[in-house]
Amino acid sequence: MPLVERLCIIGVGLIGGSLSLALKQAGAVGSVIGVGRSAANLDDALRLGVIDEASHDAASAVESADMVVLAVPVGTTQAVCEQIRDHLNADAVLTDVGSVKGDVVAQVEAAFGEAPANFVPGHPIAGTEKSGAAAAFPTLYEGRRVLLTPLAHTAETALDRVRRMWETAGAEVETMEVAHHDAVLAATSHLPHMLAFGLVDRLARMEDSGEIFRYAAGGFRDFTRIASSDPVMWRDICMHNREALLAAMAQFEEELAELRRAIDAGDGERLFEIFTRAREARDGFTG
Ligand code: NAP
Repeated sequence: MPLVERLCIIGVGLIGGSLSLALKQAGAVGSVIGVGRSAANLDDALRLGVIDEASHDAASAVESADMVVLAVPVGTTQAVCEQIRDHLNADAVLTDVGSVKGDVVAQVEAAFGEAPANFVPGHPIAGTEKSGAAAAFPTLYEGRRVLLTPLAHTAETALDRVRRMWETAGAEVETMEVAHHDAVLAATSHLPHMLAFGLVDRLARMEDSGEIFRYAAGGFRDFTRIASSDPVMWRDICMHNREALLAAMAQFEEELAELRRAIDAGDGERLFEIFTRAREARDGFTG
């Protein structure tokens, strides 16, 4: 018997689609039904073998599933949960892939009254700036981390099933507290996206933006790649991880102010000290 007999992916994009492909490639899933809004994306998913069946109706799609994965933008979590609430199998495991955990848990609680014991919040630390089913690929999670943030009453059996599913997809699974997850990801993922979106937006609105982008070199491309990410997804992440993101932005504003002071004062020694410390830190974590 495969690890997952019937997988239901709600939101067949880069993240949900890649999970499906990884499990299929590992022979770890019996069949996959994908749920979405647009026919075009579901047609892509069927054509590319990402899913076996497509549906626009989340309620009926979850009825036959033993594993349900929410892979929609985080702002739609509550609405989707309200659709599926009365249709989930008693033994089915429900998990999600949202980049924010505290607010997703709150939306699940709002929809169900209390988060079900079989609900396991999760977040794969993997992705690209592409979206949709056509962007999915089976090796996305190989060697990448997946953070699971179980709640006090999350069933061990559900946690274990979700852990094994991600491990089968090639990931290394760790568990973390919900609030800690949101603070860490605000600093390491959400803040860098604000810097990339903000920088490109600012330059694009300058009078000589054509000239600026024409001469942009590799470093600019590297730094701004993530500004090509999906605006809906990132709007939702900002709205739903507000406090932690504001705290990370405030800390970064202090750093920027320090750099500005050093440049203004012609304090080369201070700049050298900051850059050296940053370079050592980066070399350290990139190994
Ligand atoms: P994506 O490629 O845009 O996929 C999301 C899919 O959800 C779309 O195909 C969309 O298709 C569908 N969808 C949107 N609203 C829906 C609804 N109300 N009901 C059913 N389907 C709906 O986005 P993604 O990158 O896979 O991201 C999905 C989730 O993963 C997000 O919560 C994000 O925070 C999280 N995540 C993303 C990354 C990353 O780097 N991309 C990394 C980790 C986690 P239709 O428009 O056709 O419905």
